[in-house]
Amino acid sequence: MLSTMQDVPLTVTRILNHGTTIHGSSHVTTWTGESEPHRRSYREIGERAAQLAHALHGDLGVTGDERVATLMWNNAEHVEAYYAIPCMGAVLHTLNLRLPVEQLVFIVNHAADRVVIVNGSLLPLLAPLLPHLPTVEHVVVSGPGDRSVLDGAAARVHDYEELLAGKPTAYDWPELDERSAAAMCYTSGTTGEPKGVVYSHRSIYLHSMQVNMAESMGLTDADTSLVVVPQFHVNAWGLPHAVLMTGVNMLMPDRFLQPGPLAEMIETERPTHAAAVPTIWQGLLADLTAKPRDVSSLTQVTIGGAACPPSLMEAFDSLGMRVCHAWGMTETSPLGTVARPPAHAVGTDAEFGYRLTQGRFPAGVEARLRGPDGEFLPWDGESAGELEVRGPWIAGAYYGGASGEPQRPADKFSEDGWLKTGDVGVIGPDGFLTLTDRAKDVIKSGGEWISSVELENALMAHPEVAEAAVVAVPDEKWGERPLATVVLTEGATADYAALKEFLAGRIARWQLPERWAVVPSVPKTSVGKFDKKVIRRQYADGELQVTEVR
Ligand code: AMP
Repeated sequence: MLSTMQDVPLTVTRILNHGTTIHGSSHVTTWTGESEPHRRSYREIGERAAQLAHALHGDLGVTGDERVATLMWNNAEHVEAYYAIPCMGAVLHTLNLRLPVEQLVFIVNHAADRVVIVNGSLLPLLAPLLPHLPTVEHVVVSGPGDRSVLDGAAARVHDYEELLAGKPTAYDWPELDERSAAAMCYTSGTTGEPKGVVYSHRSIYLHSMQVNMAESMGLTDADTSLVVVPQFHVNAWGLPHAVLMTGVNMLMPDRFLQPGPLAEMIETERPTHAAAVPTIWQGLLADLTAKPRDVSSLTQVTIGGAACPPSLMEAFDSLGMRVCHAWGMTETSPLGTVARPPAHAVGTDAEFGYRLTQGRFPAGVEARLRGPDGEFLPWDGESAGELEVRGPWIAGAYYGGASGEPQRPADKFSEDGWLKTGDVGVIGPDGFLTLTDRAKDVIKSGGEWISSVELENALMAHPEVAEAAVVAVPDEKWGERPLATVVLTEGATADYAALKEFLAGRIARWQLPERWAVVPSVPKTSVGKFDKKVIRRQYADGELQVTEVR
């Protein structure tokens, strides 16, 4: 028997229509660095999204599911692109401006982007790539920047504001199939070519509802979210979509992502929520320690993308900025788990431990663990294996290119279609996930596994350690052993023996690193995570000054 319910497609257009009417007076504030921040209401965002769609279709000839790329910071215009492009039926392709240029060239060509909307400040990055991007016919420039670098480009160059000027502020959005492509994002790909994840209207709609749940971010129109996580990093974790459902205001840092401006934004614009990877918050913490500010408005900070060090959580908690830890991937839209402690643990000694886990799976995400021999492992909080997930906002394949079939590589998808996350961990009987490592980062020493993350967290708890990254290096006797690279705080006096002794109180002796190196900074990936691949290469090439402490 079929249901008697209406079959209304779950589309980004429905989110847009809702947000720009019911929550039309909520707004996006974009930091400008020098003058007053710029404010635009969701009603205006809707009108300008309609104008942008007219421009893309009428002036630039974008039709069907053609790809329109953005090479932009987090700002109001990027939000307009987030809605105009998918709602007109085209596909939004957010480009990660920190990728190595050869990867950027690869993904623009692979996606066959026809238009690139670019912030003026990023033209020096785009201009030299254009001769290698034959599919790009139009470049639309938004905001200040030297446009002369585009002189001689084969693509036609347009000014964003000039394109929008005078266009109708309403658009007859097509009724789309909810399963059609809305947006795409390439994984940063540590091995092989980057892989394209294509989000559907339906997956974005359902993911947005999950982001809004009280057990996830649970924000309302009384909140302002400081969206530090880039709009090119898994759709800024779904925030620009989720907020139009609920009227949450957005504070966008544009290109001002350094600790100083972020601290100033928090003090003057008084956001209640913020989201970013741990490295951003480590930097902010150092800044706030050196120069205390009024951060009292910020009571909820979502941290994900990499494990949140306990010391960071503690420090933020003590500043009143309560951390909520979450796990996800480009392939999971990204929300996969959120670490809200269960009611029975709140106020008890167990609470902090729950908050440090990666969190609990929401109803939309099913999970299972696989052992080394492919066997399924119990949720006993002890059996460690690779996490596999499935659900309506989890990728089931990668984009195969214009003429190719979707790709389902066997190392990324199980035979029955689950996503193999490459993350290793345990799940407790109550469904809380604790990751111990990336499968490729875990240190295999004498047949036992050492968690690089555990060592890093223990090191970063030392008051004189600003950052620490631990990688596996080859060892004749044990196969692999940990190498600890540490960034010390200014004026630190701790030596390696003292650091090792500090670890000894927290980590089993046999797991303690013998190899140590102080580094000026830990190399970061294009989305601000520790780049262990680079550290391993630096070690192999003899670029690190390594001291052995036996
Ligand atoms: P990306 O697709 O670039 O966002 O990277 C996804 C990967 O980041 C995951 O597979 C994890 O290895 C890692 N990751 C994300 N969130 C967390 C977290 N809370 N704790 C530990 N690792 C995380």
